[in-house]
Amino acid sequence: MKKFFVTFLIVFIGLISYSAPYDSIYINPYNLREVVANSYIRGVIAQGDVTRWNKSSFPLGVYIQSNGVPEYYVSAVKKAYLKWQTVTGGAVSFKFVSSPQNADMKCFFTYDFSNMSEDTVGYHQFKYMDDKIADSIIKFRVTDKNGNSFSSQILYNVALHEIGHSLGLAGHSSKSGDLMYPVAQKRNYDISKRDLTTLKLLYSMVPDCTDRPLSTSDKANLLTKAQVVGGEARLKQDAQTAAKINSNITPQDPSSRYRLAKAYQENKNYTKAIQEYKNVISMVDSSDLKVKLYAEITNCYIKLKNYTAAQNCANYTYKKYPSRLSVVLLPTVLYDKGAKTDAVVCLCKIVSADRNNEYAIMLLKQIYNQEKNNTKLKLSILKTLKEENIL
Ligand SMILES: [Zn+2]
Repeated sequence: MKKFFVTFLIVFIGLISYSAPYDSIYINPYNLREVVANSYIRGVIAQGDVTRWNKSSFPLGVYIQSNGVPEYYVSAVKKAYLKWQTVTGGAVSFKFVSSPQNADMKCFFTYDFSNMSEDTVGYHQFKYMDDKIADSIIKFRVTDKNGNSFSSQILYNVALHEIGHSLGLAGHSSKSGDLMYPVAQKRNYDISKRDLTTLKLLYSMVPDCTDRPLSTSDKANLLTKAQVVGGEARLKQDAQTAAKINSNITPQDPSSRYRLAKAYQENKNYTKAIQEYKNVISMVDSSDLKVKLYAEITNCYIKLKNYTAAQNCANYTYKKYPSRLSVVLLPTVLYDKGAKTDAVVCLCKIVSADRNNEYAIMLLKQIYNQEKNNTKLKLSILKTLKEENIL
């Protein structure tokens, strides 16, 4: 009897260690809030577009460069892939391929880490074409800053973290107990329950970007970003928090400053948005881009009902950067402040001078549709559009 009990216990323990913790994470409408709270999915979502692989694409083909590096480099990285496969009970899985052409994920070893801090051992990068994943690349440094090889353990640890990114875990966890915590020295080098919960949530969501488009019926059973974070307002708030953190990390990067400006604008913090847009303008060279940014600033002034500032901004932009977009900024302001006839007269003039100005035509058509009761205004729009053969 005793022997039976011991055997039973061993079998039972064996069962526990074989059933992957990933499979024990259940997500349903009733526990969603709790599951989200035990993850860092909100941080992942706040990074912007949600990217993940189509579940039917697993096992993903993985290429690991093997020439030019010790053999244990390759096996350390392989081990990391297999670890992810094991802890997820095969929910994510990989097959190793010998040529990068046939691979979904690629790992390279390089000496060229010129854009990275000298302590960076590896990094991951998605490449996109439209909304599709076009490539997924992890690059590892061959030697450290002193020219020494890395230990197998370090490569394994770093690979584990970078594979997390390549599965779609964007951004980082704020808890040092998680694999996806950013600081290498203090980081836990194992996949935590929170890492797994976050991954599970990610693969329960409709992605913005993926490798193979999901069918409508697939999407119908999945969670949306707004559902996961608890509403549209929360989504925008989170995006602002993340954009603020990112722009503090890379203050000289115009795209991260732009995301912050956009987040402020979406959260109706128009004054802060204007300030950030101005910062971006000072960082970019293209006048087309500057006009677009000034157009956003003009819109923010309109939202603040500061029509004088909006008009000044519109006039300044057109004077300094004359273009099809900048010329319609003034009539946009005029219309929004209620000077509707002036706006239409101005737009008709623009269209008469350049019947290919799609911004002006679009705005005229918009006004036409909005002005149900203003026959006079509608007639003058109609007249111009007909004269220019647009209707
Ligand atoms: Zn990272």
